[in-house]
Amino acid sequence: MPKNKQKSNRFTQELLKWFAHHGRKDLPWQENTTPYRVWISEIMLQQTQVSTVIPYYQRFMQKFSDIKALAGAPIDEVLHLWTGLGYYARARNLHRAAQMIQGEFNGDFPLDFDDLIALPGIGRSTAGAILAIAAHQHQAILDGNVKRVLTRFALVSGWPGLKEVENTLWGIAQQYTPEEHVADYTQAIMDLGATLCIRSKPRCGDCPVNRACGAYKQGTVTEYPTPKAKKILPVKESILLMAIGEDGKVLLEQRPPTGIWGGLWSFPELAPNTDVREWCETNFNLKIDEIQAWLTKRHTFSHFHLDYTPVYVKVAETLPAIMEPKERVWYNLQKPDARGLATPIKRLLTQLAQNT
Ligand code: SF4
Repeated sequence: MPKNKQKSNRFTQELLKWFAHHGRKDLPWQENTTPYRVWISEIMLQQTQVSTVIPYYQRFMQKFSDIKALAGAPIDEVLHLWTGLGYYARARNLHRAAQMIQGEFNGDFPLDFDDLIALPGIGRSTAGAILAIAAHQHQAILDGNVKRVLTRFALVSGWPGLKEVENTLWGIAQQYTPEEHVADYTQAIMDLGATLCIRSKPRCGDCPVNRACGAYKQGTVTEYPTPKAKKILPVKESILLMAIGEDGKVLLEQRPPTGIWGGLWSFPELAPNTDVREWCETNFNLKIDEIQAWLTKRHTFSHFHLDYTPVYVKVAETLPAIMEPKERVWYNLQKPDARGLATPIKRLLTQLAQNT
């Protein structure tokens, strides 16, 4: 047997043995495994830790137990259940994909790789994970955890986000993925990356594959995976207008469906240095009683920092004209309704509710 084949067989066997004793088997999406349930978990687990995902997953499943329920729900309800998880495009894509499955596949979850990757938000690794775990198909995965394990084990240099490096890793991932026990193997390699082969201070002493791990043998574990060259993020500034009406309600508007916090509800966002009093009068014909700037805070997105200054404005009267467009509401702080909110906005609303 070629040396490479021996190495991959060994890796797979040791990993499966370890999984039988130490793998996580009581996660909510491991009960009653269906493609739908695995799909939701895989999307939630992108960029988010298991412990954070569990309560979100349980609430989501209670509300949307199948494709039909998710496809038929208003997007606002979906975003509401996603509030706090971040990366809201994931929720919008889930909703759109559920509607496509409902429309194009009669509500039956597609189990063909090409059909799956054609759906919004499902990439090659997510499709592989769904098909391997829920349908026992021979498919490889390559999420962030698996990339870390494989770069260390097989000594793959270069930032894994580079196409060339990624292609090498896909080749190794496919070579190591067994035809049998593929569901357990997939869960096992994800678990290894999440529990032992972690980013900092990996627990190599407890690792089932340490005897064959290239980086461990060389003492170079901390050098893998190669980090991305650092870039300095630009800073954008804005004012968040917190206009409170006479009745204690606050003005919220829905953001456009794309862009940051797409489709979520937010305070009106104004350019920095806007004269807030003048802006309120000109745009909404609102008379201002009191105006107060709160401390500027920073929220970091993947491609820029947003420095936002919340400006509290007490409005002398509430004009009906402001209610006309569908994408604006006076939001009742004491009786909050179900709508998708970005985390910084939710925090500010809580502060406002305590202060008014
Ligand atoms: S020995 Fe260490 S670096 Fe190698 S796969 Fe195991 S945990 Fe990761």
